Amino acid sequence: MALPPAGPDDVAGLPADVALVHAFVNTLDLRAYRVHGRQLQSSDAWDTPQALGRWLRGHRLLTGDAPVNAADLDHARYLRAALRDSTRQPRRGQAASRADDVTMLTGFPLLATAGPDTGIRLTSPGQGGDAALTRILITAAELSACGLWARLKMCPATDCQWIFFDRSRPGRGRWCSPDLCGNRLKKRAHRQRQGPTLAS
Ligand SMILES: [Zn+2]
Repeated sequence: MALPPAGPDDVAGLPADVALVHAFVNTLDLRAYRVHGRQLQSSDAWDTPQALGRWLRGHRLLTGDAPVNAADLDHARYLRAALRDSTRQPRRGQAASRADDVTMLTGFPLLATAGPDTGIRLTSPGQGGDAALTRILITAAELSACGLWARLKMCPATDCQWIFFDRSRPGRGRWCSPDLCGNRLKKRAHRQRQGPTLAS
């Protein structure tokens, strides 16, 4: 069962590409708050190259016996960090436009083709870990081109940072769970405004 409040349920019923990238960025799960009497612990699904290999195979991005090595793991974490960063929401009061805040994503084996039947296509030749990661990058770029990427958002609670899909009609959802993360942060801000309690 998925951890509260968010999990793969976030993307139930959405296109498989959204679910794939959502799963990829949330392999780093930084949720570390207490909910329903349970303390969540941060975790990284990829603690070894083998774990990354299992993840990629489980999502059909890697087939056969193609090995996954430590360099692939570094590359996967680099891509994940960049994709996660691009889902950060501007702080309240901060300008939404952050045109200068970009990461160069280099070292991914991309092949671009153009044809009268296929149009312009980006593919990833090869079988190894880098090719598998490049397929994630292409999927993310396609989601960005069709506007769906903007709906993948990092929850701004520092003890959460779960990346959720904003299903709200106007696309202005801020928290992965307003009831949990939104309320928790509101209560914390309220306590800070009241200052330290005086000893009697
Ligand atoms: Zn949250």
